[in-house]
Amino acid sequence: MRLRNKPWAEDYIKNHPTIVELDPYQRRGNWQSRFEQEQPLALEIGTGKGRFIDGMARQHPDMNFIGIERDKNVIVSAIDKLNDPDVTNATLIHENAKDLRDMFGENEIDRLYLNFSDPWPKSRHEKRRLTYYTFLEQYQNVLKDDGLVIMKTDNRQLFEYSLVSFSQFGMTLQDVKLDLHASDDETNIMTEYEEKFSQKGQVIYRCEASFSA
Ligand code: SAM
Repeated sequence: MRLRNKPWAEDYIKNHPTIVELDPYQRRGNWQSRFEQEQPLALEIGTGKGRFIDGMARQHPDMNFIGIERDKNVIVSAIDKLNDPDVTNATLIHENAKDLRDMFGENEIDRLYLNFSDPWPKSRHEKRRLTYYTFLEQYQNVLKDDGLVIMKTDNRQLFEYSLVSFSQFGMTLQDVKLDLHASDDETNIMTEYEEKFSQKGQVIYRCEASFSA
């Protein structure tokens, strides 16, 4: 997602501390205290403009949501969406998700969402894919034993790579969908990319993977 540089974005982020956690490292192991209610915690990596986290937070008031996005030009749109007193169960982090273990304690997360992650198609960039095994090691650490990694993508190569990576890591795959929109699931919250790609007629893939057998 390449957007025009917004020189005001850093200040905009700092001026919304009720929506963006400005010191996520200090929250490690204690994220529930950030929310009004203690309830299952979901993390989305690469939140983009925030349509998914906003929709999920409204659809699931019985869960708490955290979205991580490293691009300041994009996260400002997510801030605007969550800037609503009705949404008290979602917060954002403006960071690179590469050091998740420094931001989250062991077993702190119930679900982890990877939505339309950058595919990094060149093999020399494999380590940057969010389903490379070094990321899976981190997910295993911060997720509860029965926690789930839930992935959606339009990119067939990334999907195939991820299924293999999950399997090689010993994860259990469930609910693998090769055409998510073929089944009329009204609870599916579309991301910005999902809408864009599906309007072009591209198939959307989805799967769930867990570290427990
Ligand atoms: N999830 C959104 C959607 O489906 O519309 C955005 C998808 S976009 C292709 C991928 C997003 O992930 C970008 O906004 C990018 O900045 C963010 N991203 C990629 N790697 C990241 C990382 N390591 N930490 C935080 N954000 C990341």
